[in-house]
Parts: sequence; structure tokens; C-alpha cells
Amino acid sequence: MEIFQNVMARAYQMHQQEYEDKALAVLRSGWYILGEEDKRFEAEFASYIGAPHCVGLANGLDALILAFRTLGVGTGDEVIVCANAYVACTMGISINGATPVFVEPDAYLNIDADQIEAAITDRTKAILAVHLFGQACDMQKILEITQRHRLYLVEDCAQSHGATFDGRKLGTFGDIACYSFYPTKNLGAFGDAGAITTASESLANQFRVLRNYGSEKRYHNQVVGVNSRLDELQAGLLRVRLSHLDALNGEREGLCMRYLAEIQNPAITLPQVRPGAKSVWHQFVIQSAHRQALIDHLEARKIHTIIHYPIPPHLSEAYRYLGHREGDFPLCELQARQVLSLPLYNGMTRAEQDTVIRALNEFSPS
Ligand SMILES: *Cc1c(COP(=O)(O)O)cnc(C)c1O
Repeated sequence: MEIFQNVMARAYQMHQQEYEDKALAVLRSGWYILGEEDKRFEAEFASYIGAPHCVGLANGLDALILAFRTLGVGTGDEVIVCANAYVACTMGISINGATPVFVEPDAYLNIDADQIEAAITDRTKAILAVHLFGQACDMQKILEITQRHRLYLVEDCAQSHGATFDGRKLGTFGDIACYSFYPTKNLGAFGDAGAITTASESLANQFRVLRNYGSEKRYHNQVVGVNSRLDELQAGLLRVRLSHLDALNGEREGLCMRYLAEIQNPAITLPQVRPGAKSVWHQFVIQSAHRQALIDHLEARKIHTIIHYPIPPHLSEAYRYLGHREGDFPLCELQARQVLSLPLYNGMTRAEQDTVIRALNEFSPS
């Protein structure tokens, strides 16, 4: 049996008829960009998150780029972000001319809230809270800091659709929350898609204008905008997926509870759940000081894993201009050497998970 890290087709097969009916209906409707499906998806997703406004966009990176743009964060400004986050988070900041300021991760692989204040300067304008791998950052501490220092709070919920902190949905804490619906995400589309949610009507209106060439009324361009529209096919398919999201997240949780209970190997460190945070388990990320040996052991058994992420942004070529060097963020760099994402996907069978667990428990570094 060959086991892949992710098998996207399984989630499709679970509700195949609904997706196919929706796709046909959109194709036959004769309307393909920013229409009724987009409007309904925005309303349904806003209501699911518990946010007053949702604006559909083309992808998650655009959501981040436009978030900092609408908040007026640009050249000369600094934004605090976790050093181990996905590189798109950093790009959403730096494309606007602002500087990403990195902070080490905590034991839950999210930004260490206790180290944020040491990174704040006169130029700091915002904190980007990235809820990595499905689990919330410490939103209580982060909110205290943004209020005390009057900073904007942007949430990156690309990996945490439906997750909560202290019973409250992620995406409702910040000024703006950004979402990606890339096919591998918990709420995955069948192509590229993204969105923002916000409590501010004026911010929501700015996104509506910016996403469509800076115009609300066709050919009346108020600002230099972008093309970042959500198409009707993705919006319709996302509505189907959203109607099953809680069940799909529940299934992932069940799989991860089993991993937590049954993986027993001193060479493997299991992920920790933050008190107060209900994770949606975007990834199940273990750590091992013997990662390459572990990968080889699993590959020999046709079990495939993925590293999220092998090169932290501060050591990537794209961000060499920031002048960081190896050793600047030792915890982040240690994690980059040790993390490994196990096979995890909706529709994973008991036999598949048995095989993975057995292989992990049989591993011994030599
Ligand atoms: C996927 C992802 C993004 C980028 O989303 P795209 O839709 O691929 O542009 C941003 N942030 C995080 C945390 C992500 O996982």
C-alpha cells in the first residue's frame, strides 16, 4: 500500500454528486465572475466565521497584500510576524514596501506572544497573527499587546478555517482576517481562491473596489486596483464544501486524536494543543532530531511525508536583502530541521492510518 501525504480526490469523492451538480449549474448559468454564487458564498462564509463582512478574492496572497494596503501599511513601516510562517505571509507584508520583523515560535509552532513586545519599535504598525497548522496563536496576549501599543491586527486564517480560541472563531479577533482556499486547505476550492473577513464596512468596501481594477461601477476607476476576483465556479464549489466543513474538520480531528494516542516513539515529538485553542488540524506536524532517517524509513515503506517548511523566510534568497543570517532565530531554525507533516486527509482509511502508525512506532534511529 502506497500512502501519500495528501489525497485531495478523497474529499471530492465524498460529495462528488453535489460538486458536479453545482459545477454544471454554474457552467449553464452563463455568468462566470462575481455573480450570485460569489454573493452567497460571501454571506455564508461571513455568517460561518461570525464576521459582519466577507469579500471574495482570487487567492490568499492577494488577501494579505490588500489587507496591508487598505490599512495603509507600507514603506517605512514594520509588521511583526512569526519567523516560521509560510513565505506568503512575509510577501504580503513586503510587497507593500513594509518590513517583516520576525519573532520566534512557541511550543505550539505559532508566534511566541511573550517575545512580541521586544520586537516593537516606533515603526511597528501591525502584527500578523498566522494560525499555523490549524491552531490558534495566543490571541489573549496578542490582543493585549495590539491594544496597549495601538497596532493593527491582521489574522492569517489560511490554515485554520473553523478553528476557535476561547470558543471564539479565528478571523473575528483582528481588523482583517485573510483566507486562502487553495485546494489543500481545510476549506479547499478546486483551483485558486481566497477571501477576507472584517467587521469594518469601510474596509470591506475598499476590498470590493480594489479587487476589480479600483472600480465599483464599471469604467469608473477610483483608484489603481488589481484583478483579484473570485470566480463563480470556485464560489459555488466552496459553498458545497463549506456546508460540510464542520464534519470534514471533525474527521481530521478524529484522525489526529488517534495519531496522538497511538504514536509511541521516544525519537518522535508529537504536536501540542494550546489550552483554549480548538485546532482544525490542517497538518499533523511531528518533530524528530533524526528527521532524515525517519523520512528514509517511511519512504522504504512507501509512506510519503512533507516538510512544512524546510527554509524559513529569513534565510530564503528572496529575503536576503533583510540581512539576516543563520542563528538569528535558533528555535525557528531548529524546527525547520526537525518538523515533518504526516499523511493526513479527509477520507483517510483506518488501514492507511494503521500502516503509518505501525511504521512510526517501528522506527529506531541508529
Ligand atoms: C496557503 C497560505 C497562504 C497563501 O495562499 P494562496 O492562496 O496560495 O495565495 C498564505 N498564508 C498561509 C498561512 C497559507 O497556508
